[in-house]
Amino acid sequence: MVSLSGGSKVYGILGDPVAHSLSPLMQNRAFLEYGIDATYVPFHVCSNDLPSAVVGIRALNVAGVNVTIPHKEAILPLLDHVDPTAQLIGAVNTVVNRDGVLFGYNTDASGFMRSVSQDLPFDAKNSHVVLLGAGGASRAAAVALASSGVTSITIANRHQGRAEKIISDLIDHFPQVLFSAIDYNHDRYLDSLPLADLIVNATSIGLHGEDLKFLPLERIKGSALIYDMIYSLSETPLIKKSRARKLFCADGLGMLAAQGEDAFTLWTDIALTNGFMLQILSER
Ligand code: NDP
Repeated sequence: MVSLSGGSKVYGILGDPVAHSLSPLMQNRAFLEYGIDATYVPFHVCSNDLPSAVVGIRALNVAGVNVTIPHKEAILPLLDHVDPTAQLIGAVNTVVNRDGVLFGYNTDASGFMRSVSQDLPFDAKNSHVVLLGAGGASRAAAVALASSGVTSITIANRHQGRAEKIISDLIDHFPQVLFSAIDYNHDRYLDSLPLADLIVNATSIGLHGEDLKFLPLERIKGSALIYDMIYSLSETPLIKKSRARKLFCADGLGMLAAQGEDAFTLWTDIALTNGFMLQILSER
């Protein structure tokens, strides 16, 4: 149990919904284990109230927050400074309050990259990646992968225009990366699968046990790596199918843990021991 004092710092997470979030569990355990006089609380904030919530962060001197659905994009103009990577992604998931000045960061990107590199034998150099989905999580992954030196990124999405938009925002920043946008019904999508070294599910399909019907694993080479951003206590449908085909795969629990570790470090300047948050999540 966290013991609070008059000098305790308050951190939290802004989201709608927020009750399902595992961040309070992770961050409060980290504060406790590292002897930090702080607490982390869920703030259920609906979209209309986001500007007032940000005013509240300043007024109450909240030391930092995580930001989750649906506020990651909307919070950008409400902050004083946004880190260039977060700016490029167009989304902030971590805010640091430094003497009343609010700084925004995106630790989904760094967390994704760390998880993909640690939980899979992924070497970004010379690799071809297929990203499924074109929402905020896909954007963060695209920026992280492009910054890490992959050769090509194919973004496949139900609405191809969203994938095209990500590419038009990134292409000038990463001229060395070969980008393409495609929808799942196109032959070019099916042709990209056998070439892929890494396939990432960044759609919301699988959250409720649904099957990712448009990913035919029989077209994928045996050495391809599968990363499912969805995480669940049991195996996600994609992880189950990938294991059945003996493909190397990992779910999004490692990303959740790593983005939380990076947020903690931004707030406290303390680097957690490797795997600290993942251990907490695995024990729950
Ligand atoms: P968004 O809502 O921004 O994007 C959802 C994506 O899923 C879109 O590309 C959407 O396609 C696609 N999609 C949804 N339903 C369907 C469908 N029936 N058929 C085809 N495509 C579909 O979500 P986020 O980008 O924020 O998150 C995506 C996933 O990543 C979520 O499951 C989330 O839980 C997970 N995530 C995990 C994290 C972690 O730490 N492990 C961190 C962040 C996210 P379209 O554009 O065509 O509508």
